Amino acid sequence: MSDTKPQAACASADPELFFPIGESGPALLQIEHAKAICNGCPIRERCLRDHLNEAHGVFGGTTPEQRRRLRAGRSTADPSAFQSWTPA
Ligand code: SF4
Repeated sequence: MSDTKPQAACASADPELFFPIGESGPALLQIEHAKAICNGCPIRERCLRDHLNEAHGVFGGTTPEQRRRLRAGRSTADPSAFQSWTPA
């Protein structure tokens, strides 16, 4: 029996890549690499929704600061709020 559930694109990536120290300097390359992986992830939208309140790490192609801005500007009760989100 085959498993047809979509798999996280980060499943085989180094977990430390998704938890950079800071959001400037050398961490920027790490963040961009993590976001590139997220961009190809089949569960990105769900991941972002599930981790919207995470204070650390890259989830759903977003940094903590981007999630903070997303929370401030959109209703988390509305699932469609995430459909137009495009990671920078
Ligand atoms: S969107 Fe979430 S599950 Fe997918 S690669 Fe990024 S962190 Fe992993």
